[in-house]
Amino acid sequence: MNQPLHFCELTSTEVVEAVRDRVLIWAIGGIEQHGPHLPLHVDTLIPQAFAHALSLDIHGFMLPTLPVSVRSLPQSGGGLQFPGTVFVEGGTFIGLVEQTLRSLAVLPFRQLVLVNGHYENESFLFEALDQVRQSGLLGTRSVLAFSWWSLVKASWVETHLPAFPGWHAEHAGVTETSLMLHLHPELVRDLRPDHDRPPRAGVYQLPLRDDASNQGVLTMTSSASANIGGLLFNHVREEIRTLVLDALE
Ligand SMILES: [Zn+2]
Repeated sequence: MNQPLHFCELTSTEVVEAVRDRVLIWAIGGIEQHGPHLPLHVDTLIPQAFAHALSLDIHGFMLPTLPVSVRSLPQSGGGLQFPGTVFVEGGTFIGLVEQTLRSLAVLPFRQLVLVNGHYENESFLFEALDQVRQSGLLGTRSVLAFSWWSLVKASWVETHLPAFPGWHAEHAGVTETSLMLHLHPELVRDLRPDHDRPPRAGVYQLPLRDDASNQGVLTMTSSASANIGGLLFNHVREEIRTLVLDALE
């Protein structure tokens, strides 16, 4: 089998039996500035690629990727002063995800896997899921939600990313640029902006500083390569597969 399974290609008469005791996979993306070298939908394309790979690996059904996220923040995404970020407020995002999951929860799937690609989405995503859990609609079924970078092992980072600034600052940096060079090289421009003063993690600071990023890039991109992107993709793909199969045992 070399094609992913698409939930929306099922008919209404097929869907209940098709997804019974199966895995549903939902990639959660975003539209956000990613410097002068990457397109706006990096945070959509990357989790979608991992969802696609997981669908192939475990024969789970992929939902269409959610393309809209919560806002971009200055110290983790560059912020809204850069044109092109399309977002909804956090409360709206929680409501959208929660109500979507409630609709899905009536189906007899065995496991739900949410793969996030936009840094600022994470806590809102978890809150939406926890609201659905509290409602009881998920029962005892397996649910996994994570941002793809959370599955990168520290040892992998030490080996491959010697000047790693922390995931908050990897926005449009070496990992996203490398993954895009691996997955969609035709969408990556030739520029490789570097920023050698990445923001500190976990600090929100005003007034905004012009030198907080280089053209919306928070860290370095000059060491990005398709080779690093391929290694990273395969590493995370395997970590996701292991996590999902362990949770099903
Ligand atoms: Zn991104």
